[in-house]
Amino acid sequence: MPPEHKPLFVSSVAKRFLYCSGLLSLYHRVRNQRSLTVVMFHQVLPEDDPRWPDTDPNWTVTSHLFRNCLEFFRRHYNVIGIDDLLRAGDGGENLPARPLLITFDDGWADNEQYAAGILQEYGLPAVVFVVAGAVDQEGFWRERLYRQWRRGSLDADQLGGLWRALPDAEDTKPRDWTSAKAFWALANRLDTLDDVSRTALLNTIFQPSSALEGSVMLSTAQLGALAKARISIGSHGLTHTPIPLAANPQKELKDSRRRLVALLGLEERRAPLALSFPHGLYNEETVQLARAAGYRLLFTSDPHLTSADTANWQTALIGRLNISSGNITDRNGSFRPELLALWLFNRPRVFTGTRRKENARISSVASVRY
Ligand SMILES: [Zn+2]
Repeated sequence: MPPEHKPLFVSSVAKRFLYCSGLLSLYHRVRNQRSLTVVMFHQVLPEDDPRWPDTDPNWTVTSHLFRNCLEFFRRHYNVIGIDDLLRAGDGGENLPARPLLITFDDGWADNEQYAAGILQEYGLPAVVFVVAGAVDQEGFWRERLYRQWRRGSLDADQLGGLWRALPDAEDTKPRDWTSAKAFWALANRLDTLDDVSRTALLNTIFQPSSALEGSVMLSTAQLGALAKARISIGSHGLTHTPIPLAANPQKELKDSRRRLVALLGLEERRAPLALSFPHGLYNEETVQLARAAGYRLLFTSDPHLTSADTANWQTALIGRLNISSGNITDRNGSFRPELLALWLFNRPRVFTGTRRKENARISSVASVRY
């Protein structure tokens, strides 16, 4: 392989030097002056919370790491709220330099219990995209199954039985059900079932929900508390089904908005105007349906920045960057700001709305689950 085609290897020492010397920050200040960065969180919990052992580490950050991230955002960005984006208008003329929006997906109870208070301490706004049908509920089937699996309360017979009960179960050899790979292979296959078949199958092994499980998702009261704490509420669908795969996409889009209006006690004209696509999946039709349902800001899970110069926000598909603790900490779990800087500062920038034809498609970002 010619030298110029060798993959770029930057050692951890070099990464730290790039950050500590201020070079990365300088690069970011010049390059991203007119780029909107949107970050995506899911759960925020302290490690001593009883729910911590049951959370998925890929989609959960500790309260401490969340604070580290907020300090980082304050240092390198101007954090804006959803209202700033709604007011930005064509060309984003009212946006500050290096704008950043903090988002959360799903509507986890911990967002109100921990993240909201920390955001208030730092004086920063955010938006929580809520699965309207999950409010006051015990959570999504994937998370319930995951919790039972992590606790070791599902034995190999039960998991093997589920696997064999799936249609076209060609591979029926015994599996090591203690491995995460085997578990997620099962979960991904369950994902392909329709809701009724999957619920019937899972109800044979789901344990009765405990008080702990009951507090996993936001309650109506917590939703109201978030709204009062300068946290905007957006929609993440009605049932968390990917919109392009839903039997009735319009119902997912319209009824989630209606339900949020009812839960928050809002006037119809104050209905949430922002939507993040469940599982990050969308296509041209769902984009059109979402706009027809009244959404003015559409957020994907495609990992890119959005150019503030050219975007007409109300026709743009706004990308988001997931914050995963594994990507921004060292082996000891300590925050490494240079890793977060390298993840955020150098993402591709997408021009949407006015200059480039919209990139409406089924997202192929395989890592996006929520
Ligand atoms: Zn989600």
